[in-house]
Amino acid sequence: MEKTMVKAIYPGSFDPVTYGHLDVIERASKVVDELIIGVLVNSNKQPLFSMEERIHLLRETTKNYRNVQVKSFEGLTVNFARQNGAKVIIRGLRAVTDFESEMQIAQTNHSIEPEIETMFFTTSLQYSFLSSTIAKEVAFYGSDVSKLVPSVVEEALRVKYTGN
Ligand code: ADP
Repeated sequence: MEKTMVKAIYPGSFDPVTYGHLDVIERASKVVDELIIGVLVNSNKQPLFSMEERIHLLRETTKNYRNVQVKSFEGLTVNFARQNGAKVIIRGLRAVTDFESEMQIAQTNHSIEPEIETMFFTTSLQYSFLSSTIAKEVAFYGSDVSKLVPSVVEEALRVKYTGN
């Protein structure tokens, strides 16, 4: 039987990318053939990092994965998936608190585009409390974020909050 290529998108705000996201990216990159990280232009949220900065940090931290690309997108996730010929949407689940909203998003996406499936990755225990918001808060108060984000992100957060 001929093997079909599995192409997936991993959408999110990534403001900024954390070790939690990278854990999902690493694991997803092993099960799909091609993974496109989609950085969302979200008009409802005012991000700390610009689109260019978020993309740059993602590219820097994923450059060793040969099957991973980073792009920006606007609008519905299913449209972004379709435009890229992807049949799978990757999302991460940290705790039960993520479950309800993720389920709602996945059901909605499936009803709009039944050909596209959402695949969930549970996070490693050590990152189950971690979000971009937590990393920003810790950095804002000048505490050590080296266990939460890679060094390029740590540096970028320091520049944002201290100006040098
Ligand atoms: P969004 O604003 O779309 O939730 P995020 O950048 O916060 O964007 O998250 C993108 C995806 O990554 C979501 O599916 C989220 O649940 C997942 N995610 C975020 N942090 C972690 C983590 N620490 N472990 C596993 N998944 C995570």
